[in-house]
Amino acid sequence: MDSKVPEHESSLTGAPFRVGIGYDIHRLASGRRLVLGGIEIPFDQGLLGHSDGDSLAHAITDALLGAAGLGDIGAHFSDADPRWKDADSLGFLKAASQMLADRGWNVANIDATILAEQPKMMPHIPAMKSALSRATGLDQSQLNIKAKTNEKLDAIGRGEAIAAQAIVLIYPK
Ligand code: MG
Repeated sequence: MDSKVPEHESSLTGAPFRVGIGYDIHRLASGRRLVLGGIEIPFDQGLLGHSDGDSLAHAITDALLGAAGLGDIGAHFSDADPRWKDADSLGFLKAASQMLADRGWNVANIDATILAEQPKMMPHIPAMKSALSRATGLDQSQLNIKAKTNEKLDAIGRGEAIAAQAIVLIYPK
């Protein structure tokens, strides 16, 4: 067994890597800034949330925490905690990245999908990758952000919410 595998993991499976998955959704509402992937996007509505409502940053944070067996974003940054009111969600992502580093994990890659009927996300993805790279300490080549509509179906398709999915792979330092 690879001696670099953290003991708490090697005793479980011996696998030289772990994966994590994340999902998040926030309602769109008037009078809010639209913050997604750590950047502000010009739009006439924004995501409701105790924090800035950044569903992409939240999904990635959950994927990282999940991969390391560290629970979820709510366990670490409760939406009942006044410290996180209107918080910049990149702070959650940065803290989660540090938690993994402190426990001996490297991140191989992150892949994510934004689900939004509007606005068009593609023009903003380079800026999102730059912001997410700074928060995670990863190279942009390790980050992939995709975006798609929900084909006008369900709440996302009606423009009532924006969701995101993320998956990560981590391996021992
Ligand atoms: Mg959330």
